[in-house]
Amino acid sequence: MDGSWTVAAHSGLPESYVESATEAIRGRDSSVLGDEPLVAEDIRTTEWLSPAHRKAHAEAGTRSMLVTGLRYGDRVVGTLAFYYRKSRRFTEAEKNAASLLANLAAAAIGTAELYETQRRLAEDQRFVAEASELLASSLEYEDTLANVAALAVPQFADWCAIDMVEDDGSIGRLTVAHVDPDKVRLANDLAEKYPPDPAAAYGVANVIRTRQPELFSEISDDLLEEATAEAPELLHVLRELGLSSSMCVPLVARDRALGAITFMSAESGRRYDESDLATAQDLARRAATSVDNALLFRETQVARREAQDSLAVVDAVFGAAPVGLAFMDSNFRYVRVNEALATINGLPADEHFGLTLREVLGDELASTIEPYHRRVLDTGEAILDLAIEGQTAGAPGETRNWLVSYYPVRDARDSTTGVGVVITDVTEREQARAAAEAAGERLRVLAEASQQLAGTLDYESTLANIASLLVPRFADWYAVDVASGGGFRRVAVVHKDPAKAEWAEKSRSLFAPEPDELEGTARVVRTGEAVLYRTISEELLAASTLGPEHHKVLRKLGMESAMCVPLTAGGRTFGALMLVSADPNRLYDEDDLDFAKHLARRAANAVDNARLYRESERRARAAVVVEHVADGVLLVDNQGVIRLWNPAAEHITGLDSADAVGRQAAEVFPSWEAIEVLAQKSELSPSTQAVHVNDRELWLSITGVGFEDGSVYAFRDLTEERAVETLKSDFVSTISHELRTPLAAIYGSALTLRREDVLLPEPQRAGLLEVIATESDRLARIVNDVLWVSRLESDGLRPVIEACDGVELARTVVDAARQYIPPNIKIELSAPKKGPLVAADPDKTRQVLTNLVENAVKYSPDGGHVQVEISLAGPRLRFTVRDEGLGVPPAEHRRIFEKFYRLDPDLTRGVGGTGLGLYISRELLELMGGRIWVESSGHGGSAFVAELPLAD
Ligand code: ADP
Repeated sequence: MDGSWTVAAHSGLPESYVESATEAIRGRDSSVLGDEPLVAEDIRTTEWLSPAHRKAHAEAGTRSMLVTGLRYGDRVVGTLAFYYRKSRRFTEAEKNAASLLANLAAAAIGTAELYETQRRLAEDQRFVAEASELLASSLEYEDTLANVAALAVPQFADWCAIDMVEDDGSIGRLTVAHVDPDKVRLANDLAEKYPPDPAAAYGVANVIRTRQPELFSEISDDLLEEATAEAPELLHVLRELGLSSSMCVPLVARDRALGAITFMSAESGRRYDESDLATAQDLARRAATSVDNALLFRETQVARREAQDSLAVVDAVFGAAPVGLAFMDSNFRYVRVNEALATINGLPADEHFGLTLREVLGDELASTIEPYHRRVLDTGEAILDLAIEGQTAGAPGETRNWLVSYYPVRDARDSTTGVGVVITDVTEREQARAAAEAAGERLRVLAEASQQLAGTLDYESTLANIASLLVPRFADWYAVDVASGGGFRRVAVVHKDPAKAEWAEKSRSLFAPEPDELEGTARVVRTGEAVLYRTISEELLAASTLGPEHHKVLRKLGMESAMCVPLTAGGRTFGALMLVSADPNRLYDEDDLDFAKHLARRAANAVDNARLYRESERRARAAVVVEHVADGVLLVDNQGVIRLWNPAAEHITGLDSADAVGRQAAEVFPSWEAIEVLAQKSELSPSTQAVHVNDRELWLSITGVGFEDGSVYAFRDLTEERAVETLKSDFVSTISHELRTPLAAIYGSALTLRREDVLLPEPQRAGLLEVIATESDRLARIVNDVLWVSRLESDGLRPVIEACDGVELARTVVDAARQYIPPNIKIELSAPKKGPLVAADPDKTRQVLTNLVENAVKYSPDGGHVQVEISLAGPRLRFTVRDEGLGVPPAEHRRIFEKFYRLDPDLTRGVGGTGLGLYISRELLELMGGRIWVESSGHGGSAFVAELPLAD
């Protein structure tokens, strides 16, 4: 079978030869045989026999042989050999006989072979038939294919493997069969370890891809090597398996490769040929068809199940849908309805079948609906979302709202055979929408009312105006009552019907609620709680009226339902709003009451705001007053902290509000204790105090008032008045003192001169007269000074400015002084011969210089030098009068130029004066555009410097 030679039968030959000859012949080509028999007359010398062969013959003791080919058809299927123990020659006849015999034998072999082939064919056909039967037996193609594979082994193949294309396109091993379970395991392991490469040039993947069968009649070692190039470790395993021949056929159905069947021979040594391949393909075709059928069946199964499922879903939805569903035939008869619709119709779902619209819904509703059905049937077009209102048999007397859609129902030929109805109950939705609309309306009214309320401070008329928003939308009439003087005042009554205005007015003027009434406004104001009278019974009306007349008025106005809500602001209920419905169809509920409460709250807030506004306005006005009042105003809280410090306080004290507010009053005023008590006194009496504030001493007239949160003080600045007062008293005492001295001297001298009892000697008489003359002069000067002051202060003094010679002026003054100065004083003038001219009033300049020189003399009681020096100082001419007298301490430099100010008012050094001279000098110099100051350390004399502008 495999092309090698074996000894198939022998006779007379020793076993040893048969074995060795088989070895010797193996591998030798049979083509040595021609048509003629081969003869070896002496084997020992026969060249064409191999030495091994010859040796075998020698051992077997054979010397010659005759070999003929066994021909069957054109094939040599074997040889027939005759051996002889002696060498011999073979005659033609012998050769012919051998050939004949060989032919006979060959024919016999051929017949046997044919028989064998036929037997196998029959077997194969039986296998195919059995397999076909198996394939037809079940739709579980996986099991069936596995059985087919098992059936193939071992009669058709030593191995049979089936691979299928998986859903994802990959190739998966379905089954492998072999008689040896160990080998099956090995094959499974290999299949798992080495899955087929989809791009492989041969093998299962290639067959599936190309849908062409593969036949390897002989599996050579080269083929194995090639096949295992990628995985060399497999080569050994495959060699071990001893694979000899293989076929692989695709499983193709409806142009689709479903998989492949591989048959392999190994142990059996069977070699597959084309006829085997045809058998395999036949089997594969049947298998593929069977698999395809199974798959198709499965698909239809799945589809049917899905269809059933979806039908069930549709059914469930139909049954449980919250919307009403119905199918009607073309005669307006119910075919099917769901539970929801059954509930709407008030008839069990199964009782609908066969009934007409009219029978179920009644004539009225049916005549509304039938035209829609007809339209859908006629036009084949749906009618969507129709709003229908009506009552159902299920709930008679209750109006419900539905949204209804009608759909055409078509048969397979697309003609309209009925109407599908979808009904959604939107009553609740409708009600919610209506409620939302009502809520929106209320909000709008609230907003409008708020606007009206905010727009005015006259809340009483506003409360009345709100009526226009409420009547008639929310009430048929409306009343507002406000507590007033222990009772109530009806601020407004408005009725929707102008004809009833008269009655409303009556209710307003005659029947304002009484505080001790049990119900209505009185109750609401008493409790601060709103009241809802959903329905007003005759008894309630009777109980809450004052008498038959009042009762009549209320009946005229109409009272079916009412709400009374409090007007509460700042925790106080000061009135109530009453909304009344005269319509039995409008009964107020909690929502309405809520709305009324909101409205009342806003109204009350508006009233409160108006009150607060007035209050704040009053305060604002007070603040403006405080801001502008001339008196200093200071508010101190209970902690003694300054909270308010008005501009006048700033002005008087020189202390900014920012520096005062927030500080302790005691810090700002060191003498706070004396001020504080003023607010504790019951009467408002001002107190004038010397107050130190901001490093100044002020004379303030202060009043204080205590209130709940602190105290307010007002103060007025009396510092100047006080100074004037002081000045006045100083002046009086100074002048009287100054006048008294010369007057006493004059008076004494005059009295002495007048004495008749004493004859005065002449020198004494002359002396007394002299005293009278000088003291009179002194008196005159004092009076003169006072006059000057009064002229300066009354603004009645106008200097006559001219260009005059300052040096000359000074000289006349110094010369005049020389006439009266005491002998211990020396006076001198140091000046340029001819100085520049000054722009000044010469008389007044002279008066100033005289005063300075007189002072220099007067305040040098111990004598010394007096020097008058004239010099230029920029644009001015400077007169410096220097002495060596008492001096002026620096702290007094400024004050000696003030009115009546004297360093030594008590005349300790016996030097007197009015304290007016330097004041007059300074005023005169300033009138002429000049200035004056003193330079002195306080002892060792002083220098008075006067400057006047130079003349151009
Ligand atoms: P009277 O000299 O009449 O007192 P004045 O106005 O002339 O008034 O002077 C004011 C005061 O200035 C004087 O009382 C004196 O104390 C002081 N005074 C003025 N001149 C001098 C001076 N030359 N030396 C010291 N003290 C002077």
